Amino acid sequence: MTPRRIAIVPHSHWDREWYESYQEFRLNLVDMLDTLLPLLETDASYPYFMLDGQMAVVDDYLDVRPEAEPRLRALAAAGRLSMGPWYILMDEFLSSGETIIRNLQMGIARGAAFGGVMDVGYLPDMFGHIAQMPQILRQAGFTDAVVWRGVPSAITKNAFMWEAPDSSTVRAEYLPVGYGNGAALPDDAKALVRRTVDLVKEIEPFLMGALLCMNGSDHLFPQPWLGRVVAEANELQDDLAFEVTSLPRYLAAAPSENLEHWKGELRSGFRSNMLMGVTSNRVDVKRMGALAERALERRAEPLATLFQAPAEWPEKLLALAWKEVVRNSAHDSICACSVDDVVDAVLHRYAEARTIADGLATRAVASFAQSLAAPGHYVLNAAPRARAGLVELVVGAAEPPSGDVQVVSERTGLPGSMVLDATTVRTVLGMLQGPKIDNDAWVHDVGVEEDDEGLHITVTVGAEERRNVPIAEAKQDIYARLGARPDAVVRISLNQPPIRRIVARVDAVPGYGWQSFEPAPLTHRVEARESDGAVVLANGLVTVEIDTKLGTFAVDGRPGYGRVVDGGDLGDSYNYSPPGRDSFVDTPLSVSVRVVEPGPVRARAAITALYVWPDHVDGSSQARVGAHEVEIETLLELRADDPVVRVETSFVNPSRDHRVRVHLPLPDPATASQAESAFAIVERGLTAEGRVDELGLPTAPAHRFVSAGGLTVVHNGVCEYELIDIEAGPGGEAARTIALTVVRSTGMLSRLGMAYRPFPAGPLTPVDGLQMAGRRITLSYALAVRHDDPYALADDVLLPLDVVAASGGGTRPARGSALGIEGAQVSALHRVAGAAEVRVFNPTPYPTTVTIHGHSGWLVDLRGYPEQPFEGSFALRPFGIATARLRDA
Ligand SMILES: [Zn+2]
Repeated sequence: MTPRRIAIVPHSHWDREWYESYQEFRLNLVDMLDTLLPLLETDASYPYFMLDGQMAVVDDYLDVRPEAEPRLRALAAAGRLSMGPWYILMDEFLSSGETIIRNLQMGIARGAAFGGVMDVGYLPDMFGHIAQMPQILRQAGFTDAVVWRGVPSAITKNAFMWEAPDSSTVRAEYLPVGYGNGAALPDDAKALVRRTVDLVKEIEPFLMGALLCMNGSDHLFPQPWLGRVVAEANELQDDLAFEVTSLPRYLAAAPSENLEHWKGELRSGFRSNMLMGVTSNRVDVKRMGALAERALERRAEPLATLFQAPAEWPEKLLALAWKEVVRNSAHDSICACSVDDVVDAVLHRYAEARTIADGLATRAVASFAQSLAAPGHYVLNAAPRARAGLVELVVGAAEPPSGDVQVVSERTGLPGSMVLDATTVRTVLGMLQGPKIDNDAWVHDVGVEEDDEGLHITVTVGAEERRNVPIAEAKQDIYARLGARPDAVVRISLNQPPIRRIVARVDAVPGYGWQSFEPAPLTHRVEARESDGAVVLANGLVTVEIDTKLGTFAVDGRPGYGRVVDGGDLGDSYNYSPPGRDSFVDTPLSVSVRVVEPGPVRARAAITALYVWPDHVDGSSQARVGAHEVEIETLLELRADDPVVRVETSFVNPSRDHRVRVHLPLPDPATASQAESAFAIVERGLTAEGRVDELGLPTAPAHRFVSAGGLTVVHNGVCEYELIDIEAGPGGEAARTIALTVVRSTGMLSRLGMAYRPFPAGPLTPVDGLQMAGRRITLSYALAVRHDDPYALADDVLLPLDVVAASGGGTRPARGSALGIEGAQVSALHRVAGAAEVRVFNPTPYPTTVTIHGHSGWLVDLRGYPEQPFEGSFALRPFGIATARLRDA
C-alpha cells in the first residue's frame, strides 16, 4: 500500500484586528515574524511558511522592522515564504466588487517587490464566497482557490471545480474542518502520528488521497520542532508520508480530474458556520462602508477621469483612500464582529476615505464648472447612462417661479446700509476672508467710493460662487483710505437680491455628461394632500396612502409597507438568535402624519409613530423586559414623473438585545429573491442550508438592491434581507413579504448556548457598541413595483445629479458627454498609468456588445496585461467582466 501523503503547510491566520485592536495584534505580529525569520533562514528542516495570503501582514511588520525587508525578499525569492495574493483577507459580501478587485491588485502590486505573490486564491476564513470569485481569480491569472466556509452539502470531496456565472472555473481546494486542522502539532513523533490518524479519520470520506494539514491557526507562532518531528514520524511508520510543504507545492500535485462541480455563490452552513448575522450587526459600519465605496467608485474616480487633465490625476490621494477601504474590508473589520476599539477605527478609516473622495469629486466638479463657455447653471450626470431626474438649486428670486418648479424656501435679500467707525469696519472686513458667506451667498463685488462725508462701501452678494472677485485688493484699498482718513465715517451697503431654493425636474442628461439647467415641463405632477384624515401622495404613476393609525403606507392600494417589527435578539455579532420567550412589537401607540412638501415636483410627508419597546432580554427568564418609548420618524417622498417611492426611517435606538426590521409586502408571491452581489445579481431561494450547530437562517446580504415578487428595493448600504410570510400556494411555498433589517443589537462578540448557534464563534466578550443603544439609526430605501432595471434604479436613488453654477469663459459647450459607454454596467472609470480604464460587467444571461464611443484601446486582465485590442466596441459574454484601457483618453 502506498503511504498517504500528509502535506503539512505551516502558516498563521492573522486577523489584523478583531477581539483585540490592530496595534495589540501587531505587537504579536512583530514577535511572530521576529521568531519566524531566523527559523526559515537557519533551519533547513523548516522550509516553508505562508503569511496568510495577505500582504498587509508584511506591511504591518515592515512599518516596525523596515530593516527586515531584504530578509523577507530573500525568503520570498527562495520560495520559502508565501505572500499574498490579497492585500487583506476581505469579506466578499459586504465589500463592493470593485473593492475586492482593488484589494487583489494592491496585493499583487505590493507582492511584486518581493518577487511576486503566492499563486493561489487563498480564501480561508471568509464568511461565504461570492458567485463571481472564480471569474475574478481567473482574470488575475489564478487557477486555484482554497475555501472553507459556505461549501454546500452537494460537495463531498476535498476539492471541486467552482464555476462563476460566466463559466470561468477554478479548482477549489476545500478545507473540510478549516484552515487550522493541523494547528499546534505535538512535539513528539508518536503523538504526531496518532493525531494525524485521527485527522484522517475525521475527514476520510472527503479525502481523494493526500491530507492537507494546515499547521497554523489564528495568530499562532511557528512550531520550530516541526521538521524534526516530521522526520522522526516518517522513521516510525510507513502508512503516512509526512512532508513540510507549501500550499502551491501541495496543489501542484493535487488531483484536478473528474472533480465535483459547483456553480455560483457558497453560502451554506451545512458543514461550517456561515455567520450570516454579521451582515446586520453594526449597521452604521455597513452604511459608512457603502458610502465610502460609492464616493470613490462613482464620483471621485470617474469625475476626475472625465473632467481633469491626466496630469492632474490624484493618484496618491486615491491610493490613500483605497488603502483605508481595503483595510476595512478585512472579514473581522467590515463584519464588525470585533471590539469597540476596532469598530471605531473602521468608522474612522471610512470617514477618512470618504472625505478624500468627496474632496476630490468637488475639485473635479469645480474643474468642470470652470471649463464651461457660457455662464449659468448646469446639471452634471456622474452616471454612465443618460437620465432625467430632480435637482435642487438656489436661483435669484427677481422673476416669479415657473409652474414647473417648486420653491422649497425663499430668502428676501438684505439690502440696507449701516454706518460704522473705522475700527469696527476693520473688524467687519477682517471677518470677510473669502467670497463665501454661506452656501447660498457669495460676494460678487466690493465697491468703494469716497467723498467729503467719508467712505461708501457697497458689497454685492449673489447666490452662486463667482471666481476672481478681488476681495483682498478691495480690503487693502479700504485700509489705505482709512489710514489716510482715520476719522472718516464709513457707510457699508449690502446689495443682496432675494434668492430662492427650488427643486425642478430636468430632462435626460447624457451619460457622463451635462447640460444647461432648464426645468422640464411636468407630465405627472405630484401632490401630497390630506383628505378625511388620510394623507395621500400621488403622481398619476403611483399612489402612496399613509395609514394614520398604523403608521404604514399602501402603494397602489396594497397596504402594509413600512411596518416596523421589533423582536428580541439573544444572539451575538455573528448570528441572530431569538430569546427563549420572545415577544414582538409592531403596533404604535400613536401616529401623526404631516405634509412636509406639497408638490408639484416633490411631495413629502412625515410619519411620526410612537412605540413602546422592551428594554432588554432578561438572562434567566429569556423574556424581554422593561419598556422604552421610541419615536420613529419616516419620511416618504414621491417625485413628479417618477414611479419610485423614497423612504427614510430613523430613530434613536433605546433598547438592547433586539432586532428591528421593516416589512415590505410583495406584489406577487415569491419563491426566490434576486439581490445585487459583486458583479452579479444572485438568485436565492426561501431556505438556506444549516446544521445543528448553526441554523440555516435564510437572511442574506444585498448590495444596493434586492427584488422579489415584483418589488425592487434599493437601499443605502449593504442590507440584510429575508423573504418571510411563507405560505403554501398553487406553485408550492412562496413568500409574501420581504423584511429588511434596520438594526440588530446584541452586545456580545460571541455567545455560548444560543438557540440558533450553540457553540461560540469567537471570544465571549461583551461589546457594548454592538447594542447600538442611544445611537441614531437611519435606513434609507426606495421602492419600485415592476421595475425592470435595478441598476438604473440604484443610480437614480443613490447617485443624484449634480448642479453647478458656472461663470463662463471656458470652451465647453452647453450640452455634451465626456464619455459614452453602452451595453454593460460600469464598475470603474479611473486612470492607470495615465490612461483611462473602464471596467464593465454584463449582469445578464445574454451576450452583449460594449460600445465605448470614439475610443480604441486594449482589453486587459486584472494584472493589466493586454488581452486583445478593440476599436470602439467589443463583445462581452453573459455575466462577463471586462477591463478596457483606452488608448486615447
Ligand atoms: Zn479570520
